[in-house]
Amino acid sequence: MTKLAVIALDGPSGVGKSTTAKRLAQALGWSYLDTGGMYRTAALALKRAGLAPEDPAAASFLAQRRIQQTGTAFFLDGEDVSGAIRTPELSTLTSAVATHPAIRDVLVAQQRSIGAEGGWVVDGRDIGSVVFPDACCKVFLTASAEARAQRRCLELQAAGRDARFEDILEDQRARDLQDSTRAVAPLRKAEGAVEVDSSHLSLEEVVTRILALHRAHATA
Ligand code: C5P
Repeated sequence: MTKLAVIALDGPSGVGKSTTAKRLAQALGWSYLDTGGMYRTAALALKRAGLAPEDPAAASFLAQRRIQQTGTAFFLDGEDVSGAIRTPELSTLTSAVATHPAIRDVLVAQQRSIGAEGGWVVDGRDIGSVVFPDACCKVFLTASAEARAQRRCLELQAAGRDARFEDILEDQRARDLQDSTRAVAPLRKAEGAVEVDSSHLSLEEVVTRILALHRAHATA
């Protein structure tokens, strides 16, 4: 199989995928695609339209929306929804919406078309297993549930938001369970992916390790 110039970065909630992916893209001069942001924007679009994800019209409704990422901002039909898609309620709703195969088909097709030429770092849950199984470098980023919740808690507090460690841990557990046990494209380590446990690594160390893996794959 010819390999595509894509770094597929999968892993559970709060493991630091997006920060890592941004840094990798910067280092390589590549673009960054946040597929979680796409699912979040899709969930928001359905919520606003009063459409349940199981409604047969939901997938075609979403296919007609414009879901765009610019840097780290997300736009729904031209409106900046970056703040609206990051609330805890929307995280929970997104995880439920993402269990529906017809909705995944719409977003996976868009992701493949965006990344088709290569030069992308793509983060999500099913990037190495489903979206880009031919990615030149696949990484499964993990960290203990406590380490992830602790980091998210500090991030939120630094942003001046209310955050209780126990609440974050509980939300995260529920999402991890739903994401890893759903029937379609569950969160799992893809074939050929290298697991990187970031529990005791700094962001710098994680990025350096993945860049080394990428170089090793590129010259293999
Ligand atoms: O990565 P993030 O936490 O923003 O993703 C939000 C939700 O979107 C996840 O909990 C998961 O249910 C869903 N998702 C997915 N497949 C992806 C990316 C995200 O199912 N590739």
